[in-house]
Amino acid sequence: MSVAAVEARPRRVAPLGNYANNSSPAALQQGLDRRQRKRKRRTERHTLRHKERRMTKLDRVRKCGYVTVGGDGGGPGLRVSPDPKGGGNIAGFSGLLTCGSVWACPVCSAKIATRRAEELADVMRFGLEQGCRASMVTLTMRHHEGQSLKECWKALGKAWAAVTSGKQWRTDCERYGLRGWVKAVEVTHGSSGWHAHIHALLIWDDPIGLAEARHVGDRMWRRWTRALQRCGFDSLRRSADGKDLGVDVRMASLKPGHGSGLHEYFVKLSHEITGGQNKLAKGGGRTPFQILTDALANGEAADVHGWREWELASKGRRQIAWSKGLREWAGLGQEQSDEEIAAEELAAEDVLFLEPESWRELRDTPERVCKLLEVTEDGGYPASMALLDQWSMGYLVAKVYPRPKPPPRDHEHWQLRRDRLDESKRLVGSLARELSETGAWWRQLRELGIE
Ligand SMILES: [Zn+2]
Repeated sequence: MSVAAVEARPRRVAPLGNYANNSSPAALQQGLDRRQRKRKRRTERHTLRHKERRMTKLDRVRKCGYVTVGGDGGGPGLRVSPDPKGGGNIAGFSGLLTCGSVWACPVCSAKIATRRAEELADVMRFGLEQGCRASMVTLTMRHHEGQSLKECWKALGKAWAAVTSGKQWRTDCERYGLRGWVKAVEVTHGSSGWHAHIHALLIWDDPIGLAEARHVGDRMWRRWTRALQRCGFDSLRRSADGKDLGVDVRMASLKPGHGSGLHEYFVKLSHEITGGQNKLAKGGGRTPFQILTDALANGEAADVHGWREWELASKGRRQIAWSKGLREWAGLGQEQSDEEIAAEELAAEDVLFLEPESWRELRDTPERVCKLLEVTEDGGYPASMALLDQWSMGYLVAKVYPRPKPPPRDHEHWQLRRDRLDESKRLVGSLARELSETGAWWRQLRELGIE
């Protein structure tokens, strides 16, 4: 195993509030409030995933954040490191299975969506800095009674292919200098069934204005609608109150506070898509996570069926797709899969390993799991140890070999990064297998007098 040395006095991490240096009391309070809200949402996501275990048909979702990698015999590691985005520390577990489901897991989906939103924002910022223009088009489809979600998804794929091909599309691309696009899929459920939306970000080399962007968006919508109709579906152009729902075109802006700033929009969108179990979907419908929440709360057959249909139909579907070459142009490097993002662990030299029996007790109370993360973020391992002592749970703080630092996101380093990632995954996998083999490691440590 890679536990290299055991420290009697674990290294302290920065205490809470270091992000608020030279901030005013109001800014400090704002930071604390934001942190509180984030923590509340994290606990909600963990609680929902825990409850979901009794309903889901997806084995990986059932095991996500619950079972240790390589079996159920070991205990996970608790890690804490400074939050790269500022705002104190961030704590998380290592050595646990993750499902990587962007559609069916409230915890993984939030992590994946956050990363995707950051990448989208990076592309937009890069494009706008290069003097490009960015517009966003939202296309909507509706489904009719009797059509399955699977059919709906299939039609969505065909319709998007029709939007981004053909002579008309090529003409528009050339005429206005389209650099590339990114699309995100969002699905909600309303009174008439499943609704799917495609949010597409278009990056233009030429300085096109809103009128041109609308013109292109309108032509996109026409191809979209025709393709949907060929599959027996329809787009939703106007709501009952005359609101244009079928196609929504906006321009992006780098200006902070700008009403249609796409960065904010995509960050907001990612939360709406994935973390919105407590919010109503637009137009009075429900997000899939709301259906899950309702199904768990009331056990109604329609909701249970709805969630099961959702799980089956969404499995393996992509939420985000990029046009060829756009990521490379923006220096984003090769795209990580959802599973890779979900499985990423915090880099930390010291790891607090939970005793296997303690983990098996702790994992059934997600509120406690989150409480442990919170105290660790606020006070480092001394605080986590104090809390675990209070709960009479066993642990061990040990040093592990540091993981390689990710190189900067550019092309030359990318292969190197992939190689290192593969190597560390292999190491982690073999370590986890060792750890889980009948808990022998734990006994060995005890025999060595290390507890
Ligand atoms: Zn998951």
